[in-house]
Amino acid sequence: MISFEDALETVLRDVRKTDTERVDFNDALYRVLAEDVYSDVDMPPFDKAAVDGYACRMEDLDKDLEVLEVIAAGEIPSKTILPGQCSKIMTGAMIPEGADTMLMVEHTKEVKPGVIRFTGNKTARNIAYKAEDVKKGDLVWGKGMQILPQHVAIFASVGCVNPLVAKQPRVAILSTGDELVEPAQLPGPGKIRNSNGFQLIAQVKAAHCIPNYMGIIPDDEEATDRAIGKALAENDMVILTGGVSMGDFDFVPQIMRKNKVEILFQKVAVKPGRPTVFGRTESSCIFGLPGNPVSSFINFEVFAKPLLYRMMGYEWTPRVLALPLGIDFQRKKSDRLEFLPVTIGESGLVVPVSYHGSAHIHAVCLADGIMSIPKGINDIKKGAPVHVRPI
Ligand code: AMP
Ligand code: MG
Repeated sequence: MISFEDALETVLRDVRKTDTERVDFNDALYRVLAEDVYSDVDMPPFDKAAVDGYACRMEDLDKDLEVLEVIAAGEIPSKTILPGQCSKIMTGAMIPEGADTMLMVEHTKEVKPGVIRFTGNKTARNIAYKAEDVKKGDLVWGKGMQILPQHVAIFASVGCVNPLVAKQPRVAILSTGDELVEPAQLPGPGKIRNSNGFQLIAQVKAAHCIPNYMGIIPDDEEATDRAIGKALAENDMVILTGGVSMGDFDFVPQIMRKNKVEILFQKVAVKPGRPTVFGRTESSCIFGLPGNPVSSFINFEVFAKPLLYRMMGYEWTPRVLALPLGIDFQRKKSDRLEFLPVTIGESGLVVPVSYHGSAHIHAVCLADGIMSIPKGINDIKKGAPVHVRPI
C-alpha cells in the first residue's frame, strides 16, 4: 500500500500534455493559456480624467476659473490650460495640456456663465496617468494560467482575440457493476442507480475538460476488456468506477494489464478510496476508482483533477484552509489519511456532517468542504486547526 503523498506524486509524474489550439477569446473562459500574452498598448493610453469635472492647475484652486471648452470622452482637447483657466471634461477624456488636477463637478459652482469656482477645501489630482496600470510590452497573463472572466477583459484591452490555449483532455467515464441501472429507470430488486457516472461527468465538466460517458459495463470480463480497450484508445484519460475491490467480480486491474496498462499503484493509504488503481498506457492513463460514490467523488478531486489540470499545463494546487475544529474528534484506526465531509460555520468552525461511510453521498451534498486527518493522528481537540478543502 502506497502513501497518499506518494500516490499523488506518481500521478503527477511524467504528465503527457495535451496539444494546443487557438480559440476565439470569447470561448477561452476557464481554458489554460499556452502562451504569454503581452500588452500592445499603454493602460491608460493617455493621462485621463478619473472624474467628471474641470481640468485645471492645482495652484489655481483659490481663483475663479474661465471655462475654455467641453471635452467629451474620446475627444482630443484643443486648448492648453493657462493660469486662471480650466476645461470641463468627462470621465475617461484626455487631460488637456497645462492641467494637473481634475476638480470634481460636485466641488464646484458656476459663478457666472463660463466661469466656475472650487467650493471644496482640498482635492486629489483625480487623474489616471498614462501607463500607470500596464505599460506597452508588459506581460499581462502567462502561459499555464487559467483564463477567468477578468482575464477576458484584459485580453480584450490588449487585442488578444485569438489566444493559444491547451486542448481539453477528453475523459472516458465507465461505470462497472451488474447492479447498476441508468438514472431514468426505477431500480428493480437488488439494483441501484448509476450515480457515479454522472457525478464524474459533472466533475470533469467542473474541471473544464470534456467528459465522454461510455455507459454501464456489466461485471463480465469480456465486456470490461472491450470497454477498457476502446476507452484507452479514444481518450486522454479513462475513469472507471467499481470492480477494483476484492470481490469475486473485481477483475478490473487484471484487464487493465491485458490492455497494456502499466499499473503504478493499486492500493492507497487513504480513506475512503483504498482500492484506487492508477496506470498509464503509451497514449492515455486510467483510474480505477472504488464504486462507492463518496470514494469516487473524493478520489477524482484529489487525484484525477490535479492531473487533468497538469495535462493542460496548469500547475493547479487545491486551496486548503486551516480552520479550528468545532468538536473533539477521535478515531480508532489511524493507518490511513482520512477525508471527511464537514460544514464550515460562519465563524470558521469546522464540524463533521453526520456520515455513514463511503456510500453516503448525501452527506457530501450537505458539506462545505472535505477535512483531512493525517495518517497517525487519532485525536484532535476542539479548537485545534484542521485542514479543509472547500468543495
Ligand atoms: P465495487 O467497488 O464495485 O465493489 O462497489 C462498491 C459499492 O459501490 C457497491 O455497493 C456498489 O453497488 C456501489 N457502486 C458501484 N458502482 C456504482 C455507481 N456507478 N453508482 C453508485 N454506486 C455504485
Ligand atoms: Mg462492483
